[in-house]
Amino acid sequence: MQNKIWLSPPHMSGNELSYIEDALQKNWVTSQGENIDGFEKSLSVFLKDNVKVCALHSATSAIHLALLMFGVSLNDEVLTSTFSFCASANPITYCGATPLFIDSEKETWNMCPIALEKAIQDRISKGKRPKAIIVVHLYGMPAKMDEITAVAEKYEISVIEDAAEALGSTYKGQACGTFGRFGILSFNGNKIITTSGGGALVCHTQEDKDQAVFLSTQARDNAPHYQHSHIGYNYRMSNIVAGIGRGQMEVLNERVEARRKMHDFYVDVFKDIEGVEVFSEPNEDYYSNHWLSAIVIDEKIARKNREDLRLAFLEDNIESRPLWKPMHLQPVFADAPYYGTNVAEKLFDDGLCLPSGSNLSDDDRLRIENVIKEFFW
Ligand SMILES: *Cc1c(COP(=O)(O)O)cnc(C)c1O
Repeated sequence: MQNKIWLSPPHMSGNELSYIEDALQKNWVTSQGENIDGFEKSLSVFLKDNVKVCALHSATSAIHLALLMFGVSLNDEVLTSTFSFCASANPITYCGATPLFIDSEKETWNMCPIALEKAIQDRISKGKRPKAIIVVHLYGMPAKMDEITAVAEKYEISVIEDAAEALGSTYKGQACGTFGRFGILSFNGNKIITTSGGGALVCHTQEDKDQAVFLSTQARDNAPHYQHSHIGYNYRMSNIVAGIGRGQMEVLNERVEARRKMHDFYVDVFKDIEGVEVFSEPNEDYYSNHWLSAIVIDEKIARKNREDLRLAFLEDNIESRPLWKPMHLQPVFADAPYYGTNVAEKLFDDGLCLPSGSNLSDDDRLRIENVIKEFFW
């Protein structure tokens, strides 16, 4: 059996260890130190817009904190994309609130601004104004932020951007994660850079960042003893883990470039195969990091389906994966309201994510190309 080609494996820079060793040597091994400060600083420099970044355990905990800072609580409602990973929606339930799932539009596969407005009008007509909007930039593709921001402002609902997959992506030149009141980043093992596991909350004011640090370190009041006036959380990133992040930040631009090259590779491989569309930016306003390259197969034209292609890859020890299964189809969210016209369902039926790692070799690409060419022969 040939080596396994993974969908999106971690890719170290080689400099992570020196940052970790430095933390061990200085005995700064918990939730304070130069690595946390340095990692947060380099993220804010990268994102621009003078943002303040709070490094956390995960993107999931970052979304939870953002919702808490909006005051989301029992029986509130929060709008989010149905076409996403469960972590976009789960933190809504941690607050005792209900997710309202919004369908995708066809261009970016992200939250449809029209379905979003319909949902808001329907909830308001039922006497309930949603508390927040969590908009996701799926696979690194920026959502239609102008349209979504316009709807959000019209109804005065705050926006959280789930940019877990979109570090390095921009919309009209502005970094994904910096549009909403809060942005969320993930450094999970499969993301464009990793800290082994980790996330961040992107803030626009020092007060918001200070509040995030406070809540993520058990909400200790200022006193010599342990004094608490709020419920806190143990969500802060450790200085060891942040050392991995500093090593990864040194190569972030290269990683984005490599992922975008994988997308170009697939555009080339599929250019003569009818009925297959490679997921690409609709126009120059959108710049995707192409965290995962994805295709949609029109079975009527291609006379092939995505499941058979997945199995053909597997046969050659190559990992591929169907697109996200929409949240409103998940058993755990069966009772949650959904607004849309089944765009995401169709994408789930016909779409496949392809190996997209920044560390694939020319040999790996050749193996992938051979499977594709043979399959569509
Ligand atoms: C990975 C991911 C998350 C969760 O990130 P963690 O850091 O693993 O908690 C949230 N949203 C989306 C869209 C993701 O892809």
